[in-house]
Amino acid sequence: MSGCLFCQIAQGQRPAHNIFEGEGTVAFLDILPCTPGHTLVIPRHHYATLSEMPAEEVGKLFQAAAMVAERVQAAMGAAGFNMGINNGKEAGQEVFHAHIHIIPRYQGDGGGSMKSVARMSGKEDLEQLATKIRQAFTSS
Ligand code: AMP
Ligand code: ZN
Repeated sequence: MSGCLFCQIAQGQRPAHNIFEGEGTVAFLDILPCTPGHTLVIPRHHYATLSEMPAEEVGKLFQAAAMVAERVQAAMGAAGFNMGINNGKEAGQEVFHAHIHIIPRYQGDGGGSMKSVARMSGKEDLEQLATKIRQAFTSS
């Protein structure tokens, strides 16, 4: 999609620090890294969010991300990594071309876990919530 930053990177029309190029995926270093080695993995094809991607494409993207994450961790000598997606504006998405963040983690890096991205206690009990969510599997 013309005008999309990550489409331009995927097509080699904008410089980026690419670290992996697969058939349908590209990985490159985040320009404002949370930690050294912070990497983004994107589908070559334009999808604004993960929710727009066909299941098969999601599978390929995660497969590439898992492989890239292991290589990044090894290369950086990191102690672990967080892998995550800001899916939608409220979740913090700023670039609307689907992407997975891989953030290498280091001892004493001052960061938290994925559970620190939000904190809001629900009113419904867990079984009520489970019932509500289960219905989404039958209605779609
Ligand atoms: P998100 O908030 O999930 O949409 O994250 C978008 C990410 O893209 C941010 O971490 C940015 O630092 C990163 N970013 C934006 N522009 C570029 C670029 N030209 N090259 C590499 N990373 C970028
Ligand atoms: Zn795009």
